[in-house]
Amino acid sequence: MDRKKALIIGSGVAGMACAIRLANKGYQVDVFEKNEYPGGKLTNFRMNGYRFDAGPSLFTLPHLVDELFIISGKDPRDYFKYFEKEESCRYFWDDGTSVISWTDLDAFENEISEKFSTAPGTIKEYLVKSSQMYHLAGKIFMEKPLHKLLTWWSRDVAKAVSNLYKLDLFHTMHQANKKLLRHEKLIQLFDRYATYNGSNPYQAPAMLNMIPYLEHGIGTYLPEKGIYQITEVLFSLAKELGIRFHFNEKAEEILIKSGKSYGIRTHLGEYSSDLVVSTMDIMLTYRKLLQNQEAPEKILRQERSTSALIFYWGIKKQFGQLGLHNILFSNDYPGEFKALSEGNEAFTDPTVYISITSKDVPDDAPEGCENWYVMVNAPFDRGQDWNKMINDYRSAIIKKINFQFHVKIEDLIEVEDFLSPPEIESRTSSFGGSLYGNSSNNRFSAFFRHANESKKIKGLYFCGGSVHPGGGIPLCLLSAKILSDLCPNP
Ligand SMILES: Cc1cc2nc3c(=O)[nH]c(=O)nc-3n(C[C@H](O)[C@H](O)[C@H](O)COP(=O)(O)OP(=O)(O)OC[C@H]3O[C@@H](n4cnc5c(N)ncnc54)[C@H](O)[C@@H]3O)c2cc1C
Repeated sequence: MDRKKALIIGSGVAGMACAIRLANKGYQVDVFEKNEYPGGKLTNFRMNGYRFDAGPSLFTLPHLVDELFIISGKDPRDYFKYFEKEESCRYFWDDGTSVISWTDLDAFENEISEKFSTAPGTIKEYLVKSSQMYHLAGKIFMEKPLHKLLTWWSRDVAKAVSNLYKLDLFHTMHQANKKLLRHEKLIQLFDRYATYNGSNPYQAPAMLNMIPYLEHGIGTYLPEKGIYQITEVLFSLAKELGIRFHFNEKAEEILIKSGKSYGIRTHLGEYSSDLVVSTMDIMLTYRKLLQNQEAPEKILRQERSTSALIFYWGIKKQFGQLGLHNILFSNDYPGEFKALSEGNEAFTDPTVYISITSKDVPDDAPEGCENWYVMVNAPFDRGQDWNKMINDYRSAIIKKINFQFHVKIEDLIEVEDFLSPPEIESRTSSFGGSLYGNSSNNRFSAFFRHANESKKIKGLYFCGGSVHPGGGIPLCLLSAKILSDLCPNP
């Protein structure tokens, strides 16, 4: 008997995770990808002896990748090795203060009390609260479909409701951090976690203060060959499972008849199936692939998450004071977020993030050199003058780095490339180049993310960074898990 068929649009981390889960359920899976390569945002490239991860640089909750191998009957360690980092990030301020955020709690507490003269236990107390939020709300908002009654009729919800005060529902991240941490630089350090899903700490709900627990409670990791290895190993596993990939084949329409999706049309032809999954950005899924269907306008109108501007620099020097992840903080954090939400001009004193995988993966740069991935948060694309923005941001970044490290970094850049919001949009069809779909800038954001299953069209599903439970590698992997649980057994 023929196996039931599933068609997946997009081969990013969500598309591949979904394909692996549905193949394990017994579906014959075909993945359609407009690019000639898998991975979507999670890709890499090489330039003159340097290798750069092009998109994500932070890797948390690695067990979610392992799980895909385990359900496929394989040992993840035969495919994929990663290691836990001892430090999650190095932070630098213009006044010369610097802090290493150690993942070991005692070391981090000592570092903070030494640098900021905080009361003993400040960090531990903060991270206990972060952990409580994660354990009370994370399961509900990250691992379950929010549109199903069963999710709300559960022991997890009852527990969260009886501990509502721990979720700090009526404050923003910044308000909660200000109350708990007091020291200005420490508040800024923890406010930064809002950017992990493209949000603004002065607006995002305090519940997002669960994010630091991911790094400091569960850990921060790096695959031994860099982040792109996640794409490589998932692609190998998918092929071993018999999943067929159709590269350079763009989906143009999801075919619907009598309230049921029965396949897709690409520029090369029509394919029929029992179910269709779109991992394309939800806005563009409705605007391009479902043009004759009523769109959920309220959801599509939600504020988008921020985008990013990244410079990839091959640097002909090594910097001992830098680690894998580094942040050079703005002196005006509220001003930076205001400029990001207004979106018209480059902010003159941006927070600069520098990731250097060659610190841990020596082959990523020639001897004596480093591969710098230099990123600033940038507004999503609304037709701004990007040539000007890119030049202005580049000058501001160089000024900040030179001031902090007493160098002339422009003379050390051996090779250079960049990625801007319009390119993020054109390469991966992410509306406005937003990194994480909708922002989480209000307390109801989670409820305004599109569900993983269409309420109106049978057999149509949605997965990935622009739908429930949100963007970022771990949430995309969870999105695939929720979706696969919602799909019928073939
Ligand atoms: C610069 C940057 C930095 C980031 N940093 C981090 C980080 O540090 N940590 C983290 O966890 N996350 C990070 N993220 C977010 C993370 O990369 C994304 O949330 C995640 O990769 C999204 O995966 P996805 O599969 O949902 O979408 P995508 O990766 O966008 O994949 C969608 C795929 O669908 C294809 N596609 C679209 N339309 C069609 C069509 N019509 N037909 C066929 N194919 C189509 C696209 O080409 C693409 O390959 C970052 C993202 C960027 C861009």
